[in-house]
Amino acid sequence: MTDKQSKQLIVAKIKDGVVIDRIPPGRSLKVLTVLGIDETYPAQVSLAIKVPSQKRPEGLKDVLKIANKELTQEELDKLGLIIPGAAYNIIQDYKVVKKEELRLPSRVQGILKCQNPNCATNFREPISTEFSLISESPLVLRCEYCERFLGEDYVSQLLYGR
Ligand SMILES: [Zn+2]
Repeated sequence: MTDKQSKQLIVAKIKDGVVIDRIPPGRSLKVLTVLGIDETYPAQVSLAIKVPSQKRPEGLKDVLKIANKELTQEELDKLGLIIPGAAYNIIQDYKVVKKEELRLPSRVQGILKCQNPNCATNFREPISTEFSLISESPLVLRCEYCERFLGEDYVSQLLYGR
């Protein structure tokens, strides 16, 4: 095995599932929280925290490999909100069959609650929330119903209870 290969095998391969790569260093535990993965998850989960990366500005990244997992569109939207720029790979029979970059969604439907207690989405039950992306950095979303702005702190609090 060459030195390069041994560096790539910091985390064991999985046969089927998803690999989330180039996660901002230290944030992979929050990704697990957002995906609802804990010790009861029935398949292999491998986690590497703060391994060297040439593609991230910090020079470090986290890598997460989750066997027997498919990401739903809702999960992809949530991950797009917390780790934009990370890559996700779908693995089938040890091969990468799809590779995409996670992006901030321009519209976020249903997964966040509006911060305004008087917003229609908070008391008229059948209405699903909808937010549009106003700014990427810092993250700012706007409610389509009451036009309240949601900032990064509120979004991360909603997603992983920080
Ligand atoms: Zn609202």
